[in-house]
Amino acid sequence: MTPASSFAGRKVALFGLGGSGLSTARALMAGGAQVAAWDDGEASRQRASAQGVTLEDLKGADWAQFAALILAPGVPLTHPAPHWTVEKAKAAGVEIIGDVELFCRERARLASDASFVAITGSNGKSTTTALIAHILREAGHDVQLGGNIGTPILDLEPPGQGRVHVIECSSFQIDLTPSLNASVGVLLNISPDHIDRHGTIENYAAVKERLVAKADHVVIGVDDDYCRAMLRRLIGAGKPLTPISQASTNLLGCTHFAGQGLHRALALGAGRSLMEPLASLKGARALRGAHNGQNAAAAFSACEALGVDHGAICAGMASFPGLPHRMEEITRLGSVLFVNDSKATNADAAEKALLSYDDVFWIIGGKAKEGGIEPLRPLFHKVRKAYLIGSASEDFAATLGSAVAHERCGTLDAAIEHAVRDAMASNAREPVVLLSPACASYDQFANFEVRGNAFRDLAAALVARLKQV
Ligand code: ADP
Repeated sequence: MTPASSFAGRKVALFGLGGSGLSTARALMAGGAQVAAWDDGEASRQRASAQGVTLEDLKGADWAQFAALILAPGVPLTHPAPHWTVEKAKAAGVEIIGDVELFCRERARLASDASFVAITGSNGKSTTTALIAHILREAGHDVQLGGNIGTPILDLEPPGQGRVHVIECSSFQIDLTPSLNASVGVLLNISPDHIDRHGTIENYAAVKERLVAKADHVVIGVDDDYCRAMLRRLIGAGKPLTPISQASTNLLGCTHFAGQGLHRALALGAGRSLMEPLASLKGARALRGAHNGQNAAAAFSACEALGVDHGAICAGMASFPGLPHRMEEITRLGSVLFVNDSKATNADAAEKALLSYDDVFWIIGGKAKEGGIEPLRPLFHKVRKAYLIGSASEDFAATLGSAVAHERCGTLDAAIEHAVRDAMASNAREPVVLLSPACASYDQFANFEVRGNAFRDLAAALVARLKQV
């Protein structure tokens, strides 16, 4: 744990008692603060109280007594409307911050030059964060991995010399971290996301920009207009940076994905340049697809900025096991490959999997998102057959129409059974049984993790059964 000592001897209000809120409460108490904690949910309050956190109904509290409001990232700061605690804190002139800010203050106090990589973006944050941590660990570094992925930041070991924190940051966390000053700040991409919580895409992009604006070295995507505008501002400010792209580019110094690896154009003088090959991703099974090419380019550039040599970075990328539920290659049966992409809860995410594989036996469905699978029509030729589950079945069957062979399977167990039967009977070189549902899971599963785990268990059972035959 990293005790948060910046409010030692003072009283702070803390709102939001989920996993990161509880972690923050513990860190503040360990750092000597007096914590008045609250949550609108009775169950969360009881859980906190059972862990020794002091509850105080903040609605009736005298806000002049608080040195700060520590807010959980899930609580609205600005949109759709500021939470009532935010209104009360503002009225009393009390600063509003989050757990990443408490970490930054601790880092400034304990080891201000300790390595701290902060990663954000609309897509690919978790993969890139996990990849950077993996490369650094394999290269022998003492790595602390967390933030918006896995362990809350204040549950990690404190910053220190020789230790590197690799932290995924959501836009909500950045919004609550005014002194975010990473040694390497990574911004992958910006696409419309969480606009309900930021008002406009411009506000959302401005929040993301704060992560890179104060970083010592910036790694930034150049594949969308918002990031390109930021790149121009960062260059104008003289910030050390590495641009990254998921497509071939002559932009000097830009680590980019092309063919099956990473490359970068180097200036030779007199207007001439040389394309330098940096790393092959051919053997990196967990980094298939151009989107993962971008994630790999980001990880390569971030680790390079920390001084890791290219050989060690390449070795780390090759051995990266990937994250569960994101194009996770779980098992094989003969030539049939099983891929769990349960995290693909919308068409945009499912598109990445369809782009990455051919001869797909595609399990789709669940609770449909707006727009359904119509945007995937240009990739329908990759699908040998679709297996429909959940409440989206009728809608998706209508979209697939006569373009793609399909059957309504109802449930995941029937779908996988039928998909494997057809995949094994096919003449494809590497038939892929792919769960990339393009839907939320809530109609049949608690969340996408439970859905992905069910797929993994069913696949393992099926493989064991069919191998015996
Ligand atoms: P995040 O943490 O930002 O949600 P993840 O690494 O968990 O991102 O990936 C979630 C999904 O987003 C993946 O399954 C894939 O479909 C898509 N994705 C991953 N990386 C990228 C990227 N660089 N650009 C666009 N989409 C991506």
